[in-house]
Order: sequence, then C-alpha cells, then structure tokens
Amino acid sequence: MLHTTVLNSTMLDSKGTIALFDQYVIGNYTRYPVSLVRGSGSEIWDAEGKRYVDFFPGWGCGLFGHCPKPIVEAVQKQVAQLIHVPNTWYTELQGTWAKLLSERSFDGKAFFCNSGAEANEAAIKLVRLHSSATSPSGRYKIVTFQGSFHGRTMGALSATAQPKHHEGVHPMLAGFTYVPYGNLSAVENAIDHETAAILIEPIQGEGGVRMPPEGFLQGLRKICDERNLLLVFDEVQTGCGRMGHWFGYQYFNIVPDIITLAKSVCGGLPGAAMLAKTEVATSLRPGTHAATYGGNPISAAAGIAVIRMIESEGLLARTQKISELFFTALNRLAQESNLVQEVRGGGVMIGIELAIEGAPFVKACMDRGLLMNCTQGNILRLLPAMTIEESIATEGLEILTDVLKKG
Ligand code: PMP
Repeated sequence: MLHTTVLNSTMLDSKGTIALFDQYVIGNYTRYPVSLVRGSGSEIWDAEGKRYVDFFPGWGCGLFGHCPKPIVEAVQKQVAQLIHVPNTWYTELQGTWAKLLSERSFDGKAFFCNSGAEANEAAIKLVRLHSSATSPSGRYKIVTFQGSFHGRTMGALSATAQPKHHEGVHPMLAGFTYVPYGNLSAVENAIDHETAAILIEPIQGEGGVRMPPEGFLQGLRKICDERNLLLVFDEVQTGCGRMGHWFGYQYFNIVPDIITLAKSVCGGLPGAAMLAKTEVATSLRPGTHAATYGGNPISAAAGIAVIRMIESEGLLARTQKISELFFTALNRLAQESNLVQEVRGGGVMIGIELAIEGAPFVKACMDRGLLMNCTQGNILRLLPAMTIEESIATEGLEILTDVLKKG
C-alpha cells in the first residue's frame, strides 16, 4: 500500500514519487516526469542518478546554482539559533539585511515578505496608500504592460496583462490599465487624473525576455516626473545581480521609486522584499500591511549571505564574463541555424526566439542532460547561475547547439 511504502522508503524512484503526487498533490502544474533529489552548483541529479546541467536553476531563484555553500552555512547556523520572530519584535538580522539592500540601491527602506507576488501586492498597496496620503483626489490606477507577469495572487494577477492568466477567475481587481510594451505614446494616452503609478518589469521575463526599446524606460521616468506618478520596477527576475549590476534599473541607468525583489534575493530560499524611496515608504504605516513570515531570521540570514557572497567572490564582474560566454556561443548558433530568430537579454538572463515551438527542444535537451525553460511557446529561456563553471556552461551550450542544429 502507498502509505506503508512511503513510510518505509528512504528514496523513491521518479515513478514512485509521481504516484504520490497523482494521489495527494493538487495537479495545478504541468511537470516533467522526473523527480529531482540533489543539486550542487549548476548540476542536479534525479532519483535515477541521472545528472543534468541546469541552465534554469530554481526557475531563476538559483542565481548561485544549487546549495551554495555560504548560504547553506548561514542558514544552518541560523536555524539552530532562532527560526522565527514575529514582526512585533526587532531582530538585528532583518535590520542589517535592509541596510545592505538600501546601500546598494537608492538609500530607501525595505518591507519584507515571502514571494514575488507578495512583493508586488505590497507595491500595489503602497502606491494606493501613498496616493491617498498625498493627493486629495485619491488616485489609484496603475499602468502595466501587455505581456507582463507580476504573480498569481489577485492583485498581482490583475497587474499581469496576459488574458490567458485571467481565464476563469474574473472579475479582476479594478484599477489596472494595460498598454503595449515599448509604446510611450500609448502610456501617455492611458494616464488620466486617477493614475498613480506605472509598474513594469525592466526586462519582461515570462513574456519572452523582451528588452525595452532604446529610451523607453527613460521615457517612463520622464512621464512619471512630469505627471507626478510613481515608477515601480518589478525586479523579481532582473534583481540581485542577474544583470551584472545589483539591480536591473542600474543596468538601464534609470532610478525607479519602488522595486520588488524575490527569486534569488535569498539564494534559493523563500523570501522577498519591496524597496521604496524613503519619502514614499513612510506611507506604509503600522496597521496598513503585514506578512507574518516577512523578514524572518532564516530568510534574513540567507539574504545577507547572498550580498556578502556576491561581494566577496566578485560575482557581479563574473556575471559579465559568463554573459559574454553565453551570448558569444548563442549568437554564433543564431548565424548557423535557421531556427533561431533572435538571441536577446543581458547578464545571465537570456532568451532565444525560435521560428517554431520550443517545447520539443526543451525535451530533447532534457533527454541529453540539460535543463532550461520555454516561455510564450517559442522562446527558450535561460537563467543560468552567475557562478556557473565555464566548463559546465560550455558542456550545456554544446548540447543546446547540437539539439537546435539537428532541428
Ligand atoms: N514578477 C516576476 C517578474 C516574475 O517573474 C515572477 C515569477 N516568475 C513573479 C513576479 C511572481 O513571483 P512568485 O512566483 O514568487 O510569486
């Protein structure tokens, strides 16, 4: 019987784990038929002992790959000392984490939570709170962009301008105006007397690693300054070093008023943050917002270790080097293969637009021992670790090149 099998077994094969899921886990994800058991850096092994090179570790959470030693050690130490403290008390760890993030961004203040969607919920609320505190008319609308992705909770989902994600769960939260990505005059036209902010991913991730057209983000900053709006960057994917800078906004040389962070901010552990300029942050007063686990000691210890690791190992500079390695190989591939229409992105955030569906290539790569993602049907997405060894990067790129060339 399944019950006995589970209790007596120390390790199930993939089939055994899938049987558990079929019976007990809600089937809201499409999963590959493989159970993963152990990871180290940019390598991961399944229950059958097969090794994979991972070009998409932890869906973007593994900016250092799997189980990075400094994070593991910081968490192990902290978990034995103090696991959770509610936000009715202070911990030095949370304060230090906020200070480190503030010093590397725009000298603002942090609110901590647990996921990207939650960080965006906090930003949506802060926009409304700040607007009602500072403008008598109570502006509340937020302009967002077609193809965006901001999370699955109802507020973040309403901000997400992709109808396929709204199916079956209407009505959405009121107050979001969707405009085409990259179109400044559409943004201008969408703004009215009730508009309070613009929310954008500086590079659209799930939307297909879409880069902002030249001058677009600068244009948004200008509009926000002229119309007294807040500019919010969802940096859940672009933040924390992925672009070879601490935050994506520094890569584009634009300073927003609020940024949201998750995924790699805790080195693979659950944790997220919203950073806001101090004059805006003051609108989030006691009683207006909360997250029980936000900024808990384990996440804070991991978050601090992430920043220290990036600095002590010179990983921002390393990201540029790894980025060059990937883009050189992939641009060469683009010239040699008719399937590849465009290679785009920056840092270690890479999209490969194919002329045809990408799923069969993801499967073929997985069979050959390489993991990656496909988004929007035809865009292969790579979010490799900034720490990936060059030999492992080359090994994975050879598999990818081979698979795409065979077409
Ligand atoms: N924003 C962006 C840009 C994302 O890529 C994601 C997740 N892929 C989210 C928000 C939501 O993050 P989470 O799944 O942690 O809620």
